[in-house]
Amino acid sequence: MSASPEVLTRPAPSPERPHAGRAALSPSRINDFKQCPLLFRLRTIDRLPEPPSPAATRGTLVHSVLERLFDLPAGERTVESARALLGPQWQELCEREPAVAELFADDAEAGAWLRGATTLLETYFGLEDPRRLEPAGREMLCEVELPSGVLLRGIVDRLDVARDGALRVVDYKTGRSPAEQFAGSALFQMRFYALLIWRLRGVVPRRLQLLYLGDGQVLTYDPDEASLLATERTVEAVWAAIRRATLAGEFAPRTSRLCDWCSHQALCPSFGGTTPPFPADGAERLLGVEAGSA
Ligand code: SF4
Repeated sequence: MSASPEVLTRPAPSPERPHAGRAALSPSRINDFKQCPLLFRLRTIDRLPEPPSPAATRGTLVHSVLERLFDLPAGERTVESARALLGPQWQELCEREPAVAELFADDAEAGAWLRGATTLLETYFGLEDPRRLEPAGREMLCEVELPSGVLLRGIVDRLDVARDGALRVVDYKTGRSPAEQFAGSALFQMRFYALLIWRLRGVVPRRLQLLYLGDGQVLTYDPDEASLLATERTVEAVWAAIRRATLAGEFAPRTSRLCDWCSHQALCPSFGGTTPPFPADGAERLLGVEAGSA
């Protein structure tokens, strides 16, 4: 992700982010809470660090290369340019987050991992031709407060605007496309982004597009107002559940096959661990209120 994402917010007294510092819901935080309330708590309230993983780091690297690619004049956005950007972007990432440089035992392992990133970029060029695109925004940090007071936040990888004003939201995924029974969470993420853009710009995006670079698949969704209103109600219901759990200080573990990838098993009762006490200022951190005051 970009170190300095473009900010797109509602007009505010200050051009700076009016909601900076406030807790907000993003698709990943909603997924965390639905997957396992304890995981949500440890990540979002306790704010425990998690070690970088090769897969997530590769995602960050490929995203930054694709973002930089669009800095180039249209005619120079070739696969060769993308390959040439990979090394410098990797160096930049290592300087910004030194822990990622420790992911690999030796140069051979790092080289194989980088070749995997190259393959993902090559797959991207099989899905679209960036020389024909002129994005209106990249790595856009979007924030919007719903009428109910719930704050939404998300980073939109790319926003395209057609000549007739139609909006297309594009998201890059460096994994493989989900099987049909698991497509619900990808669809929810797309609707969430569409809701953000709709509430910010007053226009329902015509198309949402997920580009899966892991297997070269494209998932599209054309939203309408009714589906976005339903998404808004879902988001508000999740926020209400998070609020109740936070005020009570109760976040139960919920096991699933995703536990295999959880960094917090040592703190999870389901795996014989002991969860630390709920932070005394947990409600204040998340809701801006003291427990018991609401
Ligand atoms: S190990 Fe599983 S149940 Fe425990 S916190 Fe992590 S995701 Fe939740």
